[in-house]
Amino acid sequence: MPGPVYIVGGGLAGSECAYQLARRGVPVVLHEMRPRLPTPAHKTGNLAELVCSNSLRSDDPLHAAGLLKREMEGFDSLVIAAARAAAVPAGSALAVDREDFAARVTATLAAHPLVELRREEVTEILADGTADRDLVIATGPLTSPAMAAALQGLLGSEYLYFYDAIAPIVEADSLDTSQLFWQSRYGKGGDDYLNAPLDRERYAAFHTALLAAEVLTPHEFEQAVFFEGCLPIEELARRGVDTLRYGPMKPVGLRGPDGRRPWAVVQLRQETLAKRQFNLVGFQSRMKWGEQQRVLRLIPGFEQAVFVRFGQIHRNTFINSPSHLDPFYRVRSAPRVRLAGQITGVEGYLESAATGLAIGLYLSLERQGREAEPLPAATALGSLARHLTESDPRHFQPANVNYGLFPELAERPPRPLRSSGEGGGAGHGGGGRQGAQGRRAAFAARAGEELAAWAARQGIPLHGGPLAAPEVAAGTGAGIEA
Ligand SMILES: Cc1cc2nc3c(=O)[nH]c(=O)nc-3n(C[C@H](O)[C@H](O)[C@H](O)COP(=O)(O)OP(=O)(O)OC[C@H]3O[C@@H](n4cnc5c(N)ncnc54)[C@H](O)[C@@H]3O)c2cc1C
Repeated sequence: MPGPVYIVGGGLAGSECAYQLARRGVPVVLHEMRPRLPTPAHKTGNLAELVCSNSLRSDDPLHAAGLLKREMEGFDSLVIAAARAAAVPAGSALAVDREDFAARVTATLAAHPLVELRREEVTEILADGTADRDLVIATGPLTSPAMAAALQGLLGSEYLYFYDAIAPIVEADSLDTSQLFWQSRYGKGGDDYLNAPLDRERYAAFHTALLAAEVLTPHEFEQAVFFEGCLPIEELARRGVDTLRYGPMKPVGLRGPDGRRPWAVVQLRQETLAKRQFNLVGFQSRMKWGEQQRVLRLIPGFEQAVFVRFGQIHRNTFINSPSHLDPFYRVRSAPRVRLAGQITGVEGYLESAATGLAIGLYLSLERQGREAEPLPAATALGSLARHLTESDPRHFQPANVNYGLFPELAERPPRPLRSSGEGGGAGHGGGGRQGAQGRRAAFAARAGEELAAWAARQGIPLHGGPLAAPEVAAGTGAGIEA
């Protein structure tokens, strides 16, 4: 008789994982170090405490975050059920009363006969005599230093990161590519980069706008965050008018369409496996999101840019998952050890809970003696594992769920005859808002079909109605949502 599954960390991922296992008859020991040992951001001893915003993002069934919620509800997610019970009005987003939410998750798990809650820090991963245990590490972005050291021992120190310097990501369809050109520096690597050239005047205007932009104040425990080599663009701008031109905007090794070296360049690197989104190389930032949009739209070709994610720099412990995890979230070199939540390189409350749910499903299938199949990459749940296992390990960065993580649709849905041209929509050449909505509907419909087929093959009941409403939901803009 196999023993319990040991889960370290009772946050969003650990709590969801514990619930999925327990409700399928698998005993769980859940270790949570709070309230005995606090983190720099948590304030209570509750499980699944939300440390910052109270929003679990969009609840629109055609938005990737809304789709993920519906997929999780199909498997009776504790996190989503608690969120719905503790919901507060927030437009198209699912936001919660954070105390009510965490109290519901805590009470459910504390009362479950198959869950043993141990309020203690775990400091070792494969301690003597524990190698035959199923272990899920879900210690989050603020993993305790002892556990971080244990992870470094298991994976190698170069595969664990403590800060996340996130560059903005832009929708390819929203760019005016007539102002951009494909080229790699010194011609190395073919045409891997899309480049936005700036002449002296545009560069000066961009620099002035950067200096004037409002920035976020870091949390106290994040003060030491800036290290050279990873400075925010506005900080570089403050060091002198030409600093950016010798840094992320350097034009060396590039020739514009006119055959001359531009004054400065913004380089865009393909972000998803399909060329639908681009990362602004080296453009991590602490500017407020509205300010980022305003300033970055000054870059030639970016006048209508739609951002999937804005730049950030924050404290975040996460591993280089493409180097270490398999599609079942198992550490390749130690397959009884799984990683869940933000530490894998997914980003956000919802996504973290989703990875815990997936691991709960896989482990419960294993405990029934069945061989699980990975969740299809075309589902929101499966797209997260796809990001973690198929991304280029050299450029791996955490991601929220979004359709850029999904495999491309076999056939693009038909575009409307005329672009709506509404500000904030896909705009430029993307077929406008209606076109973007059609694509979302197609992604959601395909996900629904694939998830239902997967669940049937695994013999797992899938609750709830159709995953995506057939009609296009109104009022859902592209880009980032709360
Ligand atoms: C300052 C800050 C602000 C954030 N703001 C947002 C936001 O607004 N929206 C959003 O979606 N996401 C936000 N995030 C990311 C957010 O933390 C994650 O989305 C989510 O909480 C991650 O879930 P998790 O289960 O992986 O980790 P957590 O929810 O952090 O859970 C990890 C748990 O493990 C425990 N733990 C750690 N080490 C050990 C150990 N060795 N032994 C036992 N227990 C341990 C911790 O006490 C914690 O309870 C923020 C993160 C930080 C740090």
